Amino acid sequence: MAYDYEELLRRARLQIPEVASKRERLELPRIIHSVIGIRTTIHNFKEIAEALNRDPRHLLKFLTREMATAAAMQESRVMFKGKFSRETFQRLLQRYMDQYVTCPVCKRPDTKIAREKRLLFLVCEACGAKSSIRPL
Ligand SMILES: [Zn+2]
Repeated sequence: MAYDYEELLRRARLQIPEVASKRERLELPRIIHSVIGIRTTIHNFKEIAEALNRDPRHLLKFLTREMATAAAMQESRVMFKGKFSRETFQRLLQRYMDQYVTCPVCKRPDTKIAREKRLLFLVCEACGAKSSIRPL
């Protein structure tokens, strides 16, 4: 067996599990949005919810409450009553991520929402922290 050092190093690297490549921080998902008349549409709403690993209905409930408006989900898009800028959505999406996705202890996004009796918790799969969250 005559592997040279570089070859051994290369093989060692290949055997490292992909833990290091797991996302550390969640980036704000891209928002595809249009305003027509008095209606604002987010065309990739489902995709955004998937990127955040959250139920689209939960995200929608949060947004409509924060924006004090009504909305209708239609396949992958959502139509809101009223004119809203992309910045408004970005700001609210960031707030949603801070409150319902990012672990407040380790700041990673690998979390899930768990319900115990009438309380909601954000359970972190990275550090194991369990933080109470405000129900919607
Ligand atoms: Zn954590």
